[in-house]
Amino acid sequence: MINLHQPDLGQDELVAVAEVFADNWPGHGPRSAAFEAAFAEHLAVDPDLVVFLNSATAGLFLACELLDLAPGDEVVLPSISFVAAANAVVRAGARPVFCDVDPRTLNPTAQDIASVLTGRTRAVVVLHYGGAPGDIEAISVLCRERGVELVEDAACAVGSSVRGRLCGTFGDLGVWSFDAMKVMVTGDGGMLRAKTPDQARRARRLAYHGLDKSGAFAAARESARWWEVDPAEPGHRFLGNDLAAALGMVQLRRLPDFLRRRRAITELYDRLLSEVPGVAVPPALPDGHVSSHYFYWVQMAADIRDAVAAQLLSRGVYTNFRYSALHEVPLYGSSATLPSAERASRGTLLLPLHPRLDDLEVSTVADEFHKAVEQHTRESERVGR
Ligand SMILES: *Cc1c(COP(=O)(O)O)cnc(C)c1O
Repeated sequence: MINLHQPDLGQDELVAVAEVFADNWPGHGPRSAAFEAAFAEHLAVDPDLVVFLNSATAGLFLACELLDLAPGDEVVLPSISFVAAANAVVRAGARPVFCDVDPRTLNPTAQDIASVLTGRTRAVVVLHYGGAPGDIEAISVLCRERGVELVEDAACAVGSSVRGRLCGTFGDLGVWSFDAMKVMVTGDGGMLRAKTPDQARRARRLAYHGLDKSGAFAAARESARWWEVDPAEPGHRFLGNDLAAALGMVQLRRLPDFLRRRRAITELYDRLLSEVPGVAVPPALPDGHVSSHYFYWVQMAADIRDAVAAQLLSRGVYTNFRYSALHEVPLYGSSATLPSAERASRGTLLLPLHPRLDDLEVSTVADEFHKAVEQHTRESERVGR
């Protein structure tokens, strides 16, 4: 079976984990702090802005909480978003408002977002589809002009950038994921970048029960009854741990290699698939844009997509589609009609793309895909006639 996503964990990661065992401290501690500092350096931001969490989902929930949204507030998201972003908006008490996306990049344009802003819009949450930065520069200008907060769900955009500026640093807040399927992997894990050190301190507190975590011994020196608690607000348990951070340090060092391999696979798919009739490969990146190449997405007629996926599965190639149009999900109660998002979610398929995939496997996927498209296009024409 050729898998869609897979991490690349090796000997260096094993050594790093062994060091955690030697310390006998797998919880949130010095390795988490070191990983935060290293990631802040990678982002070229103040280390006091960055908090290591146990998932990007936790980061999205915190980001929405930090905005102090109230009932009646609206938060705009592209319909092609991961459920975590919409869930975070709903849990923070606001109403998600979905906008359409570009039919080829599956990212929203600034115009898509502007068209749904109202007087009640408090924030915009955008992702970078498949790692491609999208219209993030124009969107950040739009949000600033309209006095609306911008949260970047850069979960799959680790290493993506526009003119040297990394995705996740354009908005007021940014979130990255290191879950087992992402560009770099810590098992589970995520990073939050806040706007100010004060906001980051609040995020850290919210991520630990609402308590200022100052270490057991330090607390004992400060207070005669160090076991008493005084949460500033009701918090969660979202902090990342040192076992994950140890993996993160190694994976961050290896990130340039992962990104190179992902780009090479993308270019190989482009070469092998750009001539398949009725199939569109991902559009070229604009000048100055760098993608993490998290997804390789192919677009075809909606009436063959599911059959193509089924045939690939029967040939040992696992494909998928992310992210289903959320304005069509009953939970979010949207009545919008968003033609490009609807078309994209019915005719798009993600092909296997991860750093352990070799060129032969990429060719196999491309061959099988080509055959499946030809066969099902013929069948659909026959039925149509
Ligand atoms: C994976 C992903 C998430 C969730 O990340 P976790 O670390 O698994 O919580 C959120 N948004 C996007 C766009 C993702 O791809």
